[in-house]
Amino acid sequence: MCVVIDHFNSTEKQGMGQRQAHGNMELAECPGTVIFRPMIWQTLKSLFGDAERMEAGFKEEWTALLVRNVPLYSRLTEELRARLHERIGLFIGSIRFEGCNGLELDEGMVLTVAAQACLLVLNREGVPYPDLKVVYLYPTTFSSVQIRQDSVGVVTEEVVRRLGESWETGTVVLAWDSVEQGARNVHDARNVTFHEFAHQLDHEDGQTDGAPSLPSRETYRSWALVFTANYAELLASLEAGKRTLLDPYGATMPAEFFAVATETFFEKPRQLHKRYPELYAELKGFYGLDPKEWFE
Ligand SMILES: [Zn+2]
Repeated sequence: MCVVIDHFNSTEKQGMGQRQAHGNMELAECPGTVIFRPMIWQTLKSLFGDAERMEAGFKEEWTALLVRNVPLYSRLTEELRARLHERIGLFIGSIRFEGCNGLELDEGMVLTVAAQACLLVLNREGVPYPDLKVVYLYPTTFSSVQIRQDSVGVVTEEVVRRLGESWETGTVVLAWDSVEQGARNVHDARNVTFHEFAHQLDHEDGQTDGAPSLPSRETYRSWALVFTANYAELLASLEAGKRTLLDPYGATMPAEFFAVATETFFEKPRQLHKRYPELYAELKGFYGLDPKEWFE
Protein backbone atom coordinates (compact mmCIF):
# COMPACT_ATOMS: atom_id res chain seq x y z
CA MET A 1 0.00 0.00 0.00
CA CYS A 2 1.18 3.48 -0.75
CA VAL A 3 0.30 6.72 0.87
CA VAL A 4 -0.68 9.16 -1.80
CA ILE A 5 -0.81 12.87 -1.51
CA ASP A 6 -2.73 14.22 -4.36
CA HIS A 7 -5.40 14.02 -6.76
CA PHE A 8 -8.01 15.87 -8.57
CA ASN A 9 -11.49 14.57 -8.82
CA SER A 10 -12.52 14.97 -12.39
CA THR A 11 -16.15 14.32 -11.62
CA GLU A 12 -16.52 17.95 -10.58
CA LYS A 13 -15.17 19.72 -13.53
CA GLN A 14 -16.98 23.01 -13.53
CA GLY A 15 -15.57 26.29 -12.44
CA MET A 16 -14.49 26.94 -8.93
CA GLY A 17 -14.16 23.95 -6.71
CA GLN A 18 -13.32 21.74 -9.62
CA ARG A 19 -10.82 19.92 -7.55
CA GLN A 20 -11.95 18.10 -4.53
CA ALA A 21 -10.33 17.81 -1.17
CA HIS A 22 -9.16 14.44 -0.09
CA GLY A 23 -7.35 12.78 2.71
CA ASN A 24 -4.47 10.38 2.49
CA MET A 25 -5.26 7.50 0.27
CA GLU A 26 -4.23 3.96 -0.12
CA LEU A 27 -4.02 2.23 -3.42
CA ALA A 28 -3.29 -1.24 -4.54
CA GLU A 29 0.37 -1.69 -5.42
CA CYS A 30 -0.22 -1.30 -9.13
CA PRO A 31 -2.39 1.58 -10.27
CA GLY A 32 -4.25 -0.52 -12.80
CA THR A 33 -3.68 -2.86 -15.65
CA VAL A 34 -0.15 -2.20 -16.79
CA ILE A 35 0.49 -3.28 -20.33
CA PHE A 36 4.07 -4.36 -20.83
CA ARG A 37 5.28 -3.73 -24.33
CA PRO A 38 8.60 -2.71 -25.77
CA MET A 39 8.72 0.66 -24.18
CA ILE A 40 9.13 3.81 -26.17
CA TRP A 41 10.97 5.36 -23.26
CA GLN A 42 13.61 2.67 -23.66
CA THR A 43 14.03 3.64 -27.29
CA LEU A 44 14.24 7.30 -26.34
CA LYS A 45 16.63 6.47 -23.58
CA SER A 46 19.00 4.77 -25.99
CA LEU A 47 18.66 7.65 -28.46
CA PHE A 48 19.46 10.19 -25.80
CA GLY A 49 22.49 8.25 -24.67
CA ASP A 50 24.87 10.44 -22.79
CA ALA A 51 22.99 13.38 -21.36
CA GLU A 52 26.13 15.50 -21.57
CA ARG A 53 25.82 15.35 -25.32
CA MET A 54 22.10 15.87 -25.22
CA GLU A 55 22.00 19.24 -26.89
CA ALA A 56 23.89 18.01 -29.92
CA GLY A 57 21.69 14.93 -30.11
CA PHE A 58 18.32 16.57 -29.60
CA LYS A 59 16.45 15.80 -32.79
CA GLU A 60 14.73 18.43 -34.86
CA GLU A 61 11.51 16.44 -34.73
CA TRP A 62 11.54 16.48 -30.93
CA THR A 63 11.89 20.26 -30.99
CA ALA A 64 8.90 20.48 -33.36
CA LEU A 65 6.98 18.18 -31.07
CA LEU A 66 7.68 20.33 -28.03
CA VAL A 67 6.71 23.48 -29.92
CA ARG A 68 3.39 21.81 -30.75
CA ASN A 69 2.63 20.08 -27.44
CA VAL A 70 4.21 22.41 -24.89
CA PRO A 71 3.69 26.04 -25.98
CA LEU A 72 5.67 27.30 -22.99
CA TYR A 73 8.73 25.78 -24.64
CA SER A 74 8.61 28.37 -27.44
CA ARG A 75 8.63 31.16 -24.89
CA LEU A 76 11.92 30.06 -23.35
CA THR A 77 15.21 31.69 -24.24
CA GLU A 78 17.56 29.67 -26.40
CA GLU A 79 19.75 29.08 -23.39
CA LEU A 80 16.88 27.70 -21.32
CA ARG A 81 15.74 25.50 -24.21
CA ALA A 82 19.20 23.98 -24.47
CA ARG A 83 19.19 23.44 -20.73
CA LEU A 84 15.76 21.83 -20.96
CA HIS A 85 16.96 19.38 -23.61
CA GLU A 86 19.73 18.29 -21.29
CA ARG A 87 17.33 17.87 -18.35
CA ILE A 88 14.88 15.89 -20.50
CA GLY A 89 17.68 13.50 -21.42
CA LEU A 90 18.58 12.94 -17.79
CA PHE A 91 14.93 12.60 -16.80
CA ILE A 92 14.16 9.93 -19.38
CA GLY A 93 17.42 8.18 -18.60
CA SER A 94 16.66 7.94 -14.89
CA ILE A 95 13.02 6.88 -14.69
CA ARG A 96 10.62 4.38 -16.22
CA PHE A 97 7.47 5.22 -18.17
CA GLU A 98 4.59 2.78 -18.41
CA GLY A 99 1.29 2.97 -20.22
CA CYS A 100 -1.75 1.73 -18.32
CA ASN A 101 -5.24 0.61 -19.33
CA GLY A 102 -4.13 -0.10 -22.88
CA LEU A 103 -2.35 3.19 -23.48
CA GLU A 104 0.46 2.67 -25.94
CA LEU A 105 3.14 5.22 -25.20
CA ASP A 106 4.64 7.24 -28.01
CA GLU A 107 7.49 9.72 -28.15
CA GLY A 108 5.11 12.64 -27.91
CA MET A 109 3.66 11.44 -24.62
CA VAL A 110 7.01 10.78 -23.00
CA LEU A 111 8.52 14.06 -24.19
CA THR A 112 5.46 16.11 -23.22
CA VAL A 113 5.54 14.80 -19.66
CA ALA A 114 9.33 15.02 -19.45
CA ALA A 115 9.51 18.59 -20.78
CA GLN A 116 6.97 19.89 -18.29
CA ALA A 117 8.43 17.96 -15.36
CA CYS A 118 11.88 19.30 -16.24
CA LEU A 119 10.72 22.92 -16.51
CA LEU A 120 10.34 22.79 -12.74
CA VAL A 121 13.93 21.66 -12.27
CA LEU A 122 15.63 23.54 -15.08
CA ASN A 123 18.12 25.10 -12.74
CA ARG A 124 18.93 22.14 -10.57
CA GLU A 125 22.00 20.02 -11.07
CA GLY A 126 22.16 16.25 -11.22
CA VAL A 127 19.30 13.84 -11.79
CA PRO A 128 16.12 15.93 -12.14
CA TYR A 129 14.02 13.89 -9.65
CA PRO A 130 16.33 11.61 -7.68
CA ASP A 131 13.49 9.89 -5.75
CA LEU A 132 11.25 9.27 -8.74
CA LYS A 133 11.18 5.78 -10.20
CA VAL A 134 8.20 5.52 -12.49
CA VAL A 135 5.56 7.53 -14.33
CA TYR A 136 2.34 5.67 -15.11
CA LEU A 137 0.28 7.19 -17.89
CA TYR A 138 -3.42 6.42 -18.29
CA PRO A 139 -5.38 7.37 -21.41
CA THR A 140 -7.82 9.44 -19.38
CA THR A 141 -9.03 9.82 -15.80
CA PHE A 142 -8.46 6.72 -13.76
CA SER A 143 -10.09 5.09 -10.76
CA SER A 144 -8.52 5.15 -7.39
CA VAL A 145 -9.76 3.72 -4.10
CA GLN A 146 -9.92 6.32 -1.38
CA ILE A 147 -9.92 4.94 2.14
CA ARG A 148 -10.91 7.26 4.95
CA GLN A 149 -11.07 6.78 8.67
CA ASP A 150 -13.32 9.06 10.68
CA SER A 151 -12.72 10.34 14.20
CA VAL A 152 -14.31 7.25 15.80
CA GLY A 153 -12.33 4.85 13.65
CA VAL A 154 -14.96 3.92 11.07
CA VAL A 155 -13.24 3.13 7.79
CA THR A 156 -14.98 3.82 4.49
CA GLU A 157 -13.88 3.09 0.95
CA GLU A 158 -14.81 5.10 -2.08
CA VAL A 159 -13.79 4.78 -5.71
CA VAL A 160 -12.91 8.19 -7.14
CA ARG A 161 -11.75 9.41 -10.54
CA ARG A 162 -8.36 11.08 -10.78
CA LEU A 163 -6.40 13.20 -13.24
CA GLY A 164 -3.13 12.68 -11.43
CA GLU A 165 -1.42 11.39 -8.33
CA SER A 166 1.96 11.79 -6.72
CA TRP A 167 3.11 9.01 -4.44
CA GLU A 168 5.72 9.42 -1.78
CA THR A 169 7.24 6.15 -2.93
CA GLY A 170 8.61 7.55 -6.19
CA THR A 171 5.62 7.30 -8.49
CA VAL A 172 3.66 9.82 -10.51
CA VAL A 173 0.40 8.77 -12.14
CA LEU A 174 -1.11 10.95 -14.86
CA ALA A 175 -4.07 10.94 -17.24
CA TRP A 176 -2.63 11.62 -20.69
CA ASP A 177 -5.58 13.69 -21.96
CA SER A 178 -5.24 15.97 -18.92
CA VAL A 179 -1.48 16.25 -19.41
CA GLU A 180 -2.00 17.24 -23.02
CA GLN A 181 -4.75 19.72 -22.28
CA GLY A 182 -2.83 21.20 -19.34
CA ALA A 183 0.23 21.75 -21.50
CA ARG A 184 -1.58 23.30 -24.42
CA ASN A 185 -3.40 25.95 -22.44
CA VAL A 186 -0.65 28.07 -20.92
CA HIS A 187 -2.96 30.70 -19.48
CA ASP A 188 -5.38 28.86 -17.22
CA ALA A 189 -3.05 27.83 -14.36
CA ARG A 190 -4.38 24.29 -14.59
CA ASN A 191 -1.59 21.91 -15.33
CA VAL A 192 -1.70 18.45 -13.78
CA THR A 193 1.93 17.74 -14.67
CA PHE A 194 3.26 20.84 -12.90
CA HIS A 195 0.96 20.05 -10.00
CA GLU A 196 2.07 16.46 -9.45
CA PHE A 197 5.75 17.16 -9.98
CA ALA A 198 5.57 20.03 -7.50
CA HIS A 199 4.38 17.40 -5.00
CA GLN A 200 7.39 15.28 -5.89
CA LEU A 201 9.66 18.22 -5.07
CA ASP A 202 7.75 18.80 -1.86
CA HIS A 203 8.31 15.15 -0.80
CA GLU A 204 12.05 15.29 -1.24
CA ASP A 205 12.79 16.39 2.31
CA GLY A 206 10.64 13.54 3.65
CA GLN A 207 7.58 15.63 4.39
CA THR A 208 4.81 16.70 2.06
CA ASP A 209 3.96 19.88 3.83
CA GLY A 210 4.14 22.65 1.26
CA ALA A 211 7.81 23.41 1.90
CA PRO A 212 10.31 21.73 -0.42
CA SER A 213 13.96 21.39 0.40
CA LEU A 214 15.40 24.90 0.69
CA PRO A 215 19.01 26.06 0.83
CA SER A 216 19.17 27.83 4.18
CA ARG A 217 17.48 28.52 7.47
CA GLU A 218 16.76 32.03 6.37
CA THR A 219 15.07 30.77 3.19
CA TYR A 220 12.90 28.41 5.25
CA ARG A 221 11.96 31.25 7.54
CA SER A 222 10.98 33.52 4.71
CA TRP A 223 9.13 30.71 2.89
CA ALA A 224 7.16 29.81 6.01
CA LEU A 225 6.16 33.42 6.67
CA VAL A 226 5.05 34.10 3.11
CA PHE A 227 3.30 30.79 2.49
CA THR A 228 1.51 30.81 5.82
CA ALA A 229 0.23 34.35 5.30
CA ASN A 230 -0.89 33.75 1.72
CA TYR A 231 -2.49 30.41 2.56
CA ALA A 232 -4.47 32.10 5.33
CA GLU A 233 -5.43 34.87 2.94
CA LEU A 234 -6.72 32.36 0.40
CA LEU A 235 -8.81 30.63 3.07
CA ALA A 236 -10.23 33.98 4.20
CA SER A 237 -11.06 35.04 0.62
CA LEU A 238 -12.88 31.79 -0.03
CA GLU A 239 -14.79 32.05 3.22
CA ALA A 240 -15.83 35.55 2.20
CA GLY A 241 -17.07 34.16 -1.10
CA LYS A 242 -14.51 36.05 -3.21
CA ARG A 243 -13.16 34.85 -6.51
CA THR A 244 -9.49 34.02 -6.20
CA LEU A 245 -6.56 33.91 -8.59
CA LEU A 246 -5.32 30.75 -6.93
CA ASP A 247 -7.45 27.67 -7.46
CA PRO A 248 -9.57 26.99 -4.35
CA TYR A 249 -8.11 23.49 -4.29
CA GLY A 250 -4.98 25.15 -2.91
CA ALA A 251 -6.90 25.84 0.29
CA THR A 252 -7.30 22.15 1.13
CA MET A 253 -3.85 21.85 2.75
CA PRO A 254 -0.44 23.55 2.57
CA ALA A 255 0.92 20.88 0.19
CA GLU A 256 -1.88 21.65 -2.25
CA PHE A 257 -1.27 25.36 -1.83
CA PHE A 258 2.32 24.91 -3.00
CA ALA A 259 1.25 22.73 -5.96
CA VAL A 260 -1.49 25.16 -7.03
CA ALA A 261 0.83 28.15 -6.56
CA THR A 262 3.34 26.38 -8.83
CA GLU A 263 0.71 25.94 -11.57
CA THR A 264 -0.13 29.64 -11.28
CA PHE A 265 3.53 30.68 -11.20
CA PHE A 266 4.17 29.02 -14.55
CA GLU A 267 0.89 29.81 -16.30
CA LYS A 268 -0.31 33.10 -14.82
CA PRO A 269 2.99 34.59 -13.66
CA ARG A 270 2.14 38.22 -14.27
CA GLN A 271 -1.11 37.96 -12.39
CA LEU A 272 0.56 36.07 -9.54
CA HIS A 273 3.33 38.65 -9.36
CA LYS A 274 0.82 41.47 -9.19
CA ARG A 275 -1.53 39.86 -6.71
CA TYR A 276 0.95 37.95 -4.51
CA PRO A 277 4.39 39.57 -5.04
CA GLU A 278 6.01 37.90 -2.05
CA LEU A 279 4.72 34.48 -3.02
CA TYR A 280 5.99 35.06 -6.53
CA ALA A 281 9.41 36.04 -5.16
CA GLU A 282 9.65 32.85 -3.07
CA LEU A 283 8.77 30.68 -6.06
CA LYS A 284 11.11 32.59 -8.29
CA GLY A 285 13.91 31.96 -5.81
CA PHE A 286 13.07 28.28 -5.46
CA TYR A 287 12.71 27.50 -9.16
CA GLY A 288 15.42 29.94 -10.22
CA LEU A 289 13.14 31.17 -13.00
CA ASP A 290 11.14 34.27 -13.77
CA PRO A 291 8.23 33.10 -15.99
CA LYS A 292 6.61 36.53 -16.14
CA GLU A 293 9.39 37.42 -18.59
CA TRP A 294 8.08 34.69 -20.89
CA PHE A 295 4.67 36.37 -21.09
CA GLU A 296 5.76 39.91 -21.92
ZN1 LIG B 1 -2.26 17.99 -5.23
